[in-house]
Amino acid sequence: MDAAPAWFRAALLPLAGIAAVLAAPAQDPEDCPWCGNDPRRLAALGSVSHGPIAVGFEGSSKDIRSFFEPDPWTFLETAHVRWASSLGPQRLSARDRKRLEPVFEEIAAALPDFPRPGRIQRLDPWERLHLHAWRLERFYERFQRILGVTDADFPATRAAGGPYMGNGPYLGEAEKFEFLLFRRRSDYQAYTERFLGVRVTDSLRWHHRDPHKLVGVLVCEDSDLRDDRWLYPHLVHNMSHMMLAAYKHFSYDPPVWLDEGLAHAMEREADPESWTREGEEGTYRERGRSQDWSKTVPALVRRGRAPSFTTLLNRHTIGELRDEEHATCWSLVRFLLEEHPEGFARFLGGVKGQLDERGYPSGHDLLGLQRRLLREIWGWTPQDLEEAWKTWVLEGGHAQPSGS
Ligand SMILES: [Zn+2]
Ligand SMILES: [Zn+2]
Repeated sequence: MDAAPAWFRAALLPLAGIAAVLAAPAQDPEDCPWCGNDPRRLAALGSVSHGPIAVGFEGSSKDIRSFFEPDPWTFLETAHVRWASSLGPQRLSARDRKRLEPVFEEIAAALPDFPRPGRIQRLDPWERLHLHAWRLERFYERFQRILGVTDADFPATRAAGGPYMGNGPYLGEAEKFEFLLFRRRSDYQAYTERFLGVRVTDSLRWHHRDPHKLVGVLVCEDSDLRDDRWLYPHLVHNMSHMMLAAYKHFSYDPPVWLDEGLAHAMEREADPESWTREGEEGTYRERGRSQDWSKTVPALVRRGRAPSFTTLLNRHTIGELRDEEHATCWSLVRFLLEEHPEGFARFLGGVKGQLDERGYPSGHDLLGLQRRLLREIWGWTPQDLEEAWKTWVLEGGHAQPSGS
């Protein structure tokens, strides 16, 4: 078996001809305590519709219905994401409320009769979905700031004459991003086997080609992902991969060090203790809490044990990365985000938007492309980047507060 995670295998499978329909029994959206399916309240919550929404992959609604019983499904569409979820209710501890307080305050500012944040003891399935959707739209803004783009940069289709921005309004993809959240692994496996032809244990991401869109199919059964505390940063990790893949259209896989380092950086902004791992069987959250990489990495650098940037540049699958390499990819991305945000945006745009001499997207010689971009943007060789990064680490770069 090759070492490629499900994501890479999935990306290579022929998917043409699969259209998207998902019609399933849903609870009555008017039951939603936060919006009651009222368009103005939905809009205040940054949402478009509770659907049911066409999401996922084609199949007869009868087949899909059978996967979903006995769990009721809830649907939600926002500006950039479509959701379908079978998650149940969630009790909030005092600590959860404290952690979510800023988010609840933001929502309360948008929706004047929103219940006082301190009084929210429990989230029902609608509220859980609204909360994830709200937070992920804020994350979408964060990721766009990193890329140095806004929605206005992405025409509906590729325009002649302008800079190459992919082929669609969602960072260069034709359709919105999607998440399917499965409460039960057995349902998840039946669904992915039937509609994607793969049977894996953990969550996977899929590039759907007709229409073009990125889909995250997540299994939320294990104790660490049943809880929104851990599910949300896991969603962010997956969304980071999906957004980078989508940027200027998903035509080839981005470099592993960059893709994984950025996903770790985004996930840890959401929760510094969360660690999503990628394996041959898909993507899952590390059981137990992660080490504090802001201490791990300086120790590696001081002892001369940090992997070289050249080593990381030559990793071709996420499965090849050792633990200290994950931490180092994270640290390199943090350095570029903190110290060189404009250059980093150019670097990401250059890596994701390479065209061949006929004007078609091309993933040819990404190593050479990265070397050229380092030189053009910063006048660096890979060795120079490594030295600048090490200096920053040893001068306490990770001690600075990080975030949006
Ligand atoms: Zn609602
Ligand atoms: Zn990842």
